[in-house]
Amino acid sequence: MESFVFCRAYHLGAPDRVFAEESAPEHYPRDRTFHLRHVRLNIRLDEREGTVEGTATLTLSPLNDGLRDIDLDGEDLHIQKVADSDRKSLDFEHDTRKLKIRLGRAYKAGTEFTLSIAYDCKPKKGMFFIRPSKTYPRHPWMIWTQGEEEDNRCWFPSYDAPNQRMTSEVIVRVNEKHFAISNGRLLKESRDARRKTRTFHWLQEVPHPNYLITIVSGEFDVVEETWEGVPLQYYVPKGRGPQVKDTFRYLPSMMTFYSKVTGLKYPYPKYAQAVVQDFTFGGMENTSLTVLYDGCLVDPHTRPDYRPEGLFAHELAHQWFGDWMTTKSWGHLWLNEGFASYFDPLWFEAEFGRDEFQWRMHEVAQGYFEEDAKSYRRPIVVHKYHDNEDMLDSHTYNKAACVLHMIRYVLGEDLWWKAIRHYVRRHAISNVETNDFKVAIEEATGRNLDRVFDQWFYKGGHPDFEVSWKYDDKTKLVALTVKQKQEVKDLTPLFLTPVEIELHVKGKARRERIEVSRPEQTFFFDASAKPDMVLFDPDNWILKKLTFEKQKDELLQQIQHADRVMPKVQACEGLGKILHDDDVISALKAALTKDPFHAVRRAAAKALGEIRTGDAKATLMAGLRDKDSRVRRAVYEALGQFREDDEAFEILAKAWREETMYYAAGTAALAMGNSRHPRAFDTIVKGLDRPAHGNIITRNGLTALAELRDAKAIDIVKKYTRAGEPEWIRQAACNALGKLGDYLEDKRDDIRDILVLHLRDTNYRTKIGAIQGLGTMGDPKAIPELQKVQEQEPIGTFRRLARRTVKQIQEKVAERAKKVEQQAELDKLKDENKDLKARVAKLEGQVEKVLKKRR
Ligand SMILES: [Zn+2]
Repeated sequence: MESFVFCRAYHLGAPDRVFAEESAPEHYPRDRTFHLRHVRLNIRLDEREGTVEGTATLTLSPLNDGLRDIDLDGEDLHIQKVADSDRKSLDFEHDTRKLKIRLGRAYKAGTEFTLSIAYDCKPKKGMFFIRPSKTYPRHPWMIWTQGEEEDNRCWFPSYDAPNQRMTSEVIVRVNEKHFAISNGRLLKESRDARRKTRTFHWLQEVPHPNYLITIVSGEFDVVEETWEGVPLQYYVPKGRGPQVKDTFRYLPSMMTFYSKVTGLKYPYPKYAQAVVQDFTFGGMENTSLTVLYDGCLVDPHTRPDYRPEGLFAHELAHQWFGDWMTTKSWGHLWLNEGFASYFDPLWFEAEFGRDEFQWRMHEVAQGYFEEDAKSYRRPIVVHKYHDNEDMLDSHTYNKAACVLHMIRYVLGEDLWWKAIRHYVRRHAISNVETNDFKVAIEEATGRNLDRVFDQWFYKGGHPDFEVSWKYDDKTKLVALTVKQKQEVKDLTPLFLTPVEIELHVKGKARRERIEVSRPEQTFFFDASAKPDMVLFDPDNWILKKLTFEKQKDELLQQIQHADRVMPKVQACEGLGKILHDDDVISALKAALTKDPFHAVRRAAAKALGEIRTGDAKATLMAGLRDKDSRVRRAVYEALGQFREDDEAFEILAKAWREETMYYAAGTAALAMGNSRHPRAFDTIVKGLDRPAHGNIITRNGLTALAELRDAKAIDIVKKYTRAGEPEWIRQAACNALGKLGDYLEDKRDDIRDILVLHLRDTNYRTKIGAIQGLGTMGDPKAIPELQKVQEQEPIGTFRRLARRTVKQIQEKVAERAKKVEQQAELDKLKDENKDLKARVAKLEGQVEKVLKKRR
């Protein structure tokens, strides 16, 4: 699953902040009393009423003798009747969450029997009904489900936890105009002319956990192609068929890559992707049927700024990691999400090469660092948390991907892939926990990675290295000192890890491998002359923070001669701190205009923006001609640093009006917001409504208006929060209002009223925007309303976000109070100082008098 909500939503926090309070419950895998072998749903979906009605037939087999009753999950279902294999009706009890069935006799271990449960429901979550409305007349009729983590129980009764697998069958009757897709293969399709319905009968023969069962129904444009005999099907909203070919052009390449590296050819009878309206995540990897949000559809003005391949590769990788093998409990969710988040960049490496891969891994790591610095620190594997949705964070996704990357480094290329293939073979169609992967590595390669697993999966944090080197001319030795600066306490250990060092001596590069294990260590290397540069982990294998202060000459060498992305980017960062130096400007210019890799050109632009001299500005202009819109965006961002500068502003205003690449135009708005130029406000307002992928132009325009801190923006931004606007715009507008409230204290009451109203909105993203906006504003008066969301909201994502936002507001309030206190203290000091000065003056005067008298 891929989510947009969590990664970058928070603004405060620290490694000391707790992930889950003492009061949070523990979530270990549930005990099982039976094996659920097969689920057969025979249901009718009414898209007008938003209801489900039918029968769930479960085939079960007791694990131990004497099974007399069973507990199933079913939330807000109306259970009409329960019957056994002989159609005998059975007693049951049902509260709002659990369905307890008395079997009327004791069943022996291994026997098999069925239960038929007739039910109906109007799901609040798990299954979503999309329909046209007065405010959204163009919305299609559509039904889709989202089972993960445990929401499928809201539309059918079953065993809804990940630690058991069953085959499944879905017989679904829908409106005759609709097509209904489900897992596995289509056995039969029939029509009922009298009832005006169509029935689809799907069978998934590969056992999978309950949360991966899905139905998507509606009117679609359908495109199909074949990859090695497997149908690849694309279902997209009517009218968007022409976008399929370009959007999904890399799918066959991904199928080939994953099949090859895992040693398992794609194991399902089809791979369908359904693009649906108002999806609540980026994508969801139901077996053989991935559901995607509609923002994944692209046109020629979208790439390379937005690449849907990341999402597609992530979801496809799940068909192996998550679906073929599934985490036993949500505490080990990284086994699904960390793998998918690593195998996505791995595909990029295979398709686009090493630089692209290393840069992507760097960005993955940044996502984790941000959460670690601003929200909390936790081990990747945990069992104590409030909601299952809490596990969908950057530790589960990003950090785990970085840890897999390090495991690949520790094992080396051949053994890594050997271990992966063994793991996939050994745990085929089963549940896994973290230790299973460790043991699989050992079985395949003989390597015991207990220490690696211990420090990276069961403890928290990362090494914070400070590195320096010197050369001794007499001994011809390079002394490299490595310190681990992280505070070793509670969760955070001292790390033991191999690291690669690259020495460039007389223009020749050589690699050495060291083992870091102590708080401070010095390593010695022979060198016939003083090295031109020394690089620490040039391939960026290790998840770490790095401080490596270097002199200008070494940085200049590095930007020109390092042949890896990260050292070059780091050189740009280092040079960005040196002002008024011609060598620096010309080296950055060379990098900006000549480096073959976009991220290096961007880093050079960023450095020039930091230098912010007239020369730097003139040099930046060369980047405006870059064919890659990502580089132009970095140039716009850098120009935004020249506050209230007319020349920079004119360029940004032109880009806002004329850039045909959506994200480049959007970035120009943000840069104008940052520039605070007096003409920025009116310029941005004029261009707000230009259509763009994911409405990025409008969204960034609204954010930029908020950045200008002008109360005039409130009425404009407010209009975009209204129903009828696209949901992504409404979310951005709510966020922008929150930002305005943060800046403009006297407007907080008005803004809070608007946002609180949207907490009750029926639209998912608007509601998220409202919660986020209240968090950004940091207004403690909003806390009671957020607590209501936290306590009463059925959808876990909202509960989680509301809980975190309450914390965020409390921290923000404390921080403001601290600032006020500091200011008061400062004022007091100043007063005291004045006082002191006066007294000193007085004393001096007196002394003078005394002296005069004596003279
Ligand atoms: Zn995922």
